[in-house]
Amino acid sequence: MSTIYLDSNATTAACQEALTVLRDLSPLPLNPSSTHQLGRAASSFFRGALEGFSSFLANRPEDILITSSATEAINTYLWHLSQTQPLGRIISCVTEHAAVLKPLERLQKLGWKVELMRVDTQGHIDLTQLEKELKQGDVRLLVFMAANNETGVLHPIEALAELAMRYDTKLLVDAVAAVGKYPIQHIPGVTAMALSAHKFHGPAGVGILSHQPNMRLHPWIVGGGQQLGKRSGTLNIVNVFAAWIALQSYQEKAPQIFQYLLEIRDYFETQLIQRLGAKVNGGGERAPNVSNLYFPGVDGEALLIQLDQAGVMASHGSACQAGAMELSHVLLAMHGRERTSASVRFSFSRFNTKQEIEEAVQIIAKAVQDQAGS
Ligand code: PLP
Repeated sequence: MSTIYLDSNATTAACQEALTVLRDLSPLPLNPSSTHQLGRAASSFFRGALEGFSSFLANRPEDILITSSATEAINTYLWHLSQTQPLGRIISCVTEHAAVLKPLERLQKLGWKVELMRVDTQGHIDLTQLEKELKQGDVRLLVFMAANNETGVLHPIEALAELAMRYDTKLLVDAVAAVGKYPIQHIPGVTAMALSAHKFHGPAGVGILSHQPNMRLHPWIVGGGQQLGKRSGTLNIVNVFAAWIALQSYQEKAPQIFQYLLEIRDYFETQLIQRLGAKVNGGGERAPNVSNLYFPGVDGEALLIQLDQAGVMASHGSACQAGAMELSHVLLAMHGRERTSASVRFSFSRFNTKQEIEEAVQIIAKAVQDQAGS
């Protein structure tokens, strides 16, 4: 049975360019701390990757920190904040990823006041409300994701960055579900931004924290003093370099990729809306690679199993919670339990063919009709 992978917001397959790097460089013992020839080669791969990431993000190589994941990048920044700022308020949102919500819970235990904004049924925050909160003062940090990983809904990062500058607060952006899907680069007023290579066809195990100049990042992991002392530990240089090559291969075709993803997503949604009365979860501007669909009257859990058996891989929402089969906190924040439990997330990549999308539509339509008939 052939399979169709529509779960690219969980993780993506490495692209050809990244695979070539992994194949060619993996046999080499590359440690940039060594001073011999191979150590110098490792340093130059690392430097190349840092320069690449920084040119993509319009930042400087010294303001890029490589971590093991976006989760670590976010934790690192939040730790830095907690060590360098007096206790105060942090404003974030109920629909953020656990990689943000859990470390924020930890800061709360350390005495920070964490406030999570609600969203409307479209998944949007109220900027007027946010400004009222900022006017009350004492807000040290805003944390918002650029695109929601479950619905694709975009937060207005430029407007948030303006508010952050106006009210002299910091802004951490989780850009994991945005990079590689639609154009997002450095935005003035963003203090730090987290990315994850396995979401843009790079290898797993590489996170990127891009931060404002001269931040003097307080290290979360201490030890041998690698990366200018900002994060100790020997990096997997091969994976880091492959991550940059993956991002470069996206960057070269970014406008075409955006158009292609929009085209397949719109076709997919139109078909399922017309045939099954499906409804899209999330409104306004959305990342072009996600379709979170509500199938009225359907058991979403059972539908996922039916689809898996028919070769279509999709998910409920956040991959990190999939094992627990919890209802999505993102959809619950927008809708009730009925709609949440009857919804499935399909997430596409540039490597999904139009034929796959067409076949997936047929399989989904049949599975939903089978449920209705049973
Ligand atoms: N933020 C978002 C929006 C995500 O979707 C994910 C992973 O699913 C993360 C953060 C965590 O990224 P990583 O897997 O690199 O830790």
